[in-house]
Amino acid sequence: ATPLSVATSLEEALRRGIVVFDETVFERLRDIDIVVFDKTGTLTTGEMDVIETDAPPELLEAVAELERRASHPAASAIVSAFARESNASDSLRSDGGVIDEDKEKDTGRVSEFTSHRSGVEGVIDGTKLLVGNPDLFIQQGWMVSDDIESRVAEARGFGRLPVIIGRDGAAEGIIIVGDEPRDGWDGTIRRLGERGTEVVILTGDDEEATDFFKRHKDVTHVFAGVPPEGKTATIRRLKSGGQVAMVGDGTNDAPALATADLGISLGSGTALAADAADIAIVDDEISSVETAFDLAKAANHRVK
Ligand code: ADP
Ligand code: MG
Repeated sequence: ATPLSVATSLEEALRRGIVVFDETVFERLRDIDIVVFDKTGTLTTGEMDVIETDAPPELLEAVAELERRASHPAASAIVSAFARESNASDSLRSDGGVIDEDKEKDTGRVSEFTSHRSGVEGVIDGTKLLVGNPDLFIQQGWMVSDDIESRVAEARGFGRLPVIIGRDGAAEGIIIVGDEPRDGWDGTIRRLGERGTEVVILTGDDEEATDFFKRHKDVTHVFAGVPPEGKTATIRRLKSGGQVAMVGDGTNDAPALATADLGISLGSGTALAADAADIAIVDDEISSVETAFDLAKAANHRVK
């Protein structure tokens, strides 16, 4: 490629919030056969918020206490929602019997804590709690009622994240966390499909949680329930079938981005992911993925 045509495309990319880290990227983009998308924070915005809760109030308080120790965006959403809620009701209380959260924070109510890939587990005030996605409940052998299962299915129909709350071996409540699909996700996948690119979804979440996205006709395969370490192995396997680009967010995806033939980081506040990537999309637009492919094509056309 002549330096000028590549330089023009690089400039154009930058103007559109697409940071390309080296000059070989356009050539490599042109050769990509498979594009792998992470789900949470990539196909979805990852800006999570609690939409609905249904659980006894004292249970919600305990859940927030456990989730305070977790780093997943769903955990942060639950903690903030609980803080908002209890601030609002504190001003109405007069019985003086409420627990002061700030004082309680470090008084050792939590005697056991385990962070799982898809949730948290712990003992608080002597009671065992499990909080997370349905797969975690199956893995741990906890009971989930038909009622809760049907609400899980309903939430997933909208592309939302159902978080189940369990106490002493059985599900007792549910928190529905909204994690909206990014605007334009479907158009982007369709146009990648039209280019003849295979589109694959790779997620730590369970298979059913991908239903909303899997329905897209251009999604050729879904790898679900893959822990962060497993994502690099999956990318390596896919690489034996062609040139692989991975689109991901967050610190979790950094190794997978680095393993792919081409790593594309999407989303704000993902410095670590951007480090491992060849392209960083800083404007948060998923359509920039296809724009990058278009610019690569343009760069190559100009030389001919
Ligand atoms: P992805 O690989 O698509 O980015 P993640 O591995 O980040 O997905 O998330 C997997 C699932 O685990 C999600 O449904 C998420 O809501 C759930 N999860 C993870 N940690 C927690 C937590 N601390 N509390 C509740 N749910 C959680
Ligand atoms: Mg993610």
